[in-house]
Amino acid sequence: MSTAIKQAHQKELFGHPVGLYVLFFTEMWERFSYYGMRALLTLYLVEKTNADNPGLGWLSSESIMLYGWYTMLVYVMSIPGGMIADKILGQKKAVLYGALTLVAGHGILAFDEMWAFYGGLALIVLGVGLLKPNISTMVGGLYKQGDIRRDKGFSIFYIGINLGSLLATFIVGYVGEKIGWHYGFGLAGIAMLLGLVVYMYGQKFLVTVGNKPTTEDKNDDASLGKLFADLVKSPINLGVVLLIIAYGIYAGFTYNGVDSWGYTALYIFIAFVAGILMMIYKNLETQVFKDRFLVLLLSFLIVIVFWGAFEQAGGLMSIYTKQNTDRMLMGFEIPTTWFQGLNAGFIILLATFIAGFWAKRKLKGKEGSSLFKMAVGTMIMGLGFVFMIFAASEYAENGSSSMHWLVLAYLFHTVGELCSSPVALSFITKLAPVKYASLMMGVYFAATGLGNKVAGVIGESASEFGEYAIFSGITIFTVIFGLLVILLLKPLKRLTHGAEDNEREMHNDETEGFELADKQ
Ligand code: GLN
Repeated sequence: MSTAIKQAHQKELFGHPVGLYVLFFTEMWERFSYYGMRALLTLYLVEKTNADNPGLGWLSSESIMLYGWYTMLVYVMSIPGGMIADKILGQKKAVLYGALTLVAGHGILAFDEMWAFYGGLALIVLGVGLLKPNISTMVGGLYKQGDIRRDKGFSIFYIGINLGSLLATFIVGYVGEKIGWHYGFGLAGIAMLLGLVVYMYGQKFLVTVGNKPTTEDKNDDASLGKLFADLVKSPINLGVVLLIIAYGIYAGFTYNGVDSWGYTALYIFIAFVAGILMMIYKNLETQVFKDRFLVLLLSFLIVIVFWGAFEQAGGLMSIYTKQNTDRMLMGFEIPTTWFQGLNAGFIILLATFIAGFWAKRKLKGKEGSSLFKMAVGTMIMGLGFVFMIFAASEYAENGSSSMHWLVLAYLFHTVGELCSSPVALSFITKLAPVKYASLMMGVYFAATGLGNKVAGVIGESASEFGEYAIFSGITIFTVIFGLLVILLLKPLKRLTHGAEDNEREMHNDETEGFELADKQ
């Protein structure tokens, strides 16, 4: 490594490697484009009366269905995206190709044609799949094993995500709705182009992370072909895979709706992933690796519960805000979409404070493991729904409910998210076997995608059971679930074999090429 490059990658800013800020701004623009497009999507699909800015005029049920599949697919694609990085490209190149695909995807959406619409969405799904898990894994790669700054680094990165989302909700939302949908989509493309420029310019700060897998990694016994050959030889595991596939086919014939075969495809995909995960588990060399892998998979269950409840924000809570909440403030009616911005705004305000709180607690020797934080986060988020219960009772009495309930609910949701989500990202980079680091990040995002789908299913059932019952049910379930995780904390932590013990501040000038030192 030349001295100039060595100095660049050792540089720090505000106590963190400069590479963190390169990834921060790249992800900020990527999320700007993603959330900008997301803010417009359903509105564009259902619009049919505005002659100046015509949409596609779909039914709301059709739009919500496309929206559900789309938001799930972008995250599910993180699995192949992660595998491509682990086995072929390395994360750094995968992020680059992902960013290029996203510029093309958002760019094409600027054309007012149906082929452009579907082509653009498909490219965005592929682009996010390549970029999102791999950029997150690279953040982890900036820190050495045992560096307590890693969790904080992820919290800073998380601010970038939400800064992008906050700006996009206001800017792209306004341009798309008021000036023209396709201008909004085009703007998202320009933002992604900015992200790409930041990323390319910042390469010198990322020399030690996300590099191509070595020939040894590529040719090891864990190739896909080998994993499947092993699977065929293992009757129990093969049985599980075939059972999931059989259920998928059953779903195709029996589920209602045009998307029933979509579910078949989803189950076949889940079977494929389950097969890979079981074989990876079997092939891991030591019991320590195996146990850690198991804890990681269990933590994905927390992730599904968390997002299954949290993501009511985009559906049920949004409709509740629009239909049942008094949004007048000093003679001005606050638009429904602005309430969505509360989450991103609270994150920007609170992220470093909450990360600092946990780090200080841990340094004092108090419980601060990732699983504990994720459980506490799920409970705090769940308790946020108590305010929605109050809102629903107020609505039942007065015919409208006050907006401060929503503000409080979003505040609790955000604090819960900050205890859980950046921590989960960091946790994966601590526990995943190095050669499967991106794949496991991909599985994590796919779990959040499944959580989104669960949220949709729960939200839909509100028409049957009523909002009061749904909000109460979510509160009770999440609190009990969080308590159960805390009860099981000791054995679960034992299975991590000290992956989070003795964390302390470590800086990049201590050793060179720490990525290697990280190999467990
Ligand atoms: N809001 C976060 C992001 O956009 C979380 C997304 C997720 O984990 N599904 O990155």
